[in-house]
Amino acid sequence: MTVAGRRLLLATTLAAAICAPLPGAEPHFVLLSVDTLRADALGTYGAKSAKTPTIDALATAGVLFEDAQTTIGKTGPAFASMFTSLYPPTHGARRNAQRMRGDIPVLAEILGEAGYESAAFISNWTLRADLVGLNRGFDHYDEEFNQARNAVGVMERHADDVARAAEGWLRLRAGDEERNRRPLFLWVHFSDPHDPYLERTGFTPPRPPQDQRTGGWQRRWRYQSEVNYVDHWLGRLSEAIEEFLPGPRYTVFVSDHGESMGEHGYWGHGKNVHWPNARIPMILTGPGIPEGRRVEAAVGVIDVLPTVLDLLELEHPAGVEGRSLVPIGDEPEGGARPRYVIGDKHSALFARSRRSAPYENPLQISMELEGAKVLHDFSKSRTVYFDLTVDPHEERPLPAPPVDMVPPLGRRLVNWYRDLPKYEAKSGTVLSEEDIRQLKSLGYID
Ligand SMILES: [Zn+2]
Repeated sequence: MTVAGRRLLLATTLAAAICAPLPGAEPHFVLLSVDTLRADALGTYGAKSAKTPTIDALATAGVLFEDAQTTIGKTGPAFASMFTSLYPPTHGARRNAQRMRGDIPVLAEILGEAGYESAAFISNWTLRADLVGLNRGFDHYDEEFNQARNAVGVMERHADDVARAAEGWLRLRAGDEERNRRPLFLWVHFSDPHDPYLERTGFTPPRPPQDQRTGGWQRRWRYQSEVNYVDHWLGRLSEAIEEFLPGPRYTVFVSDHGESMGEHGYWGHGKNVHWPNARIPMILTGPGIPEGRRVEAAVGVIDVLPTVLDLLELEHPAGVEGRSLVPIGDEPEGGARPRYVIGDKHSALFARSRRSAPYENPLQISMELEGAKVLHDFSKSRTVYFDLTVDPHEERPLPAPPVDMVPPLGRRLVNWYRDLPKYEAKSGTVLSEEDIRQLKSLGYID
């Protein structure tokens, strides 16, 4: 069907939907995301000590992407990439607390124009509406943080709070006939695996044997208990979705970035571009999507918007930097394409005022293409290469590219970076002294 045809059909369907119930006319779209989630902490991605039956079942019911990446290891900017299909320098939110440009289309807005109701339930402080501006287009943006329960402050909202809030909202909506006629875009974001890693009683994995207790094993063990815990509440939420959101629906399960656990001498996320930060889980289910298929293609958060719009038979905005993965389960059309990752400082100090931040180079940028990776470190003025076919964990940097490409890999990365629009970021909000204290306590301010 042509785009015009689709739009006509959509307009007709919407007009009909306003007059009379059309159960199951348009599919719902559910985005389930977990912050700071390493793919290799999930059973379906091979983690032997994981207890993640909900996410594993999603993979069995749909398509799992083996090689998915973020654009940047920072929550706000990574979600801005997901909702715009643009890299951070293009959408403008290069660091947490920086506002993305207001003149670019975002997913919730596009779906709203197509007749969707939209609701978001967030759990990470950096997703607050007044920071990056990710609330744009959402009819309902739930950013309630239960301060009393958060010993570490208000940075994180626990999975049970998030799941219950979304469940309660879905139940209320289900009782409203008028709203039930509209398709829903639901985004629920969990943050439990984010540092600090809590020991979740009842969800801890077996302790490793004494001879396998390498440095930091307790932190990894607690992290896994957080992942298992979040999977449990995802299960509860999935039951609520099943009950209160009948009809066809597409579901995307994804993380915003991974987490380094001592690899390359780093704990945390954001500052470097190595695989533990870059790699994320990504699973897609829905009508017509093959069950239990695993796709090797190089994909990422940058592809979410064009893919979802294709599935819902809506037109893409011009200028997107990702690509559609439809038909889901096949190798994407267009062959190999480079993927970029940015590593940057956390500093949000400029956000003490409403002034702009002058453009600064990030700490690192990288490009990956056909089994080769080039990494440029601005702070060290150094470019290195990795042959991922023999060194997938990026432990043996090479001074020259492992493959002969034209133009050379390093030149392509330089050209990409040179040609990016470099906006002076606007601070999203005026941070209070308490905000600053919170950010510092979690290492978000250098
Ligand atoms: Zn995050």
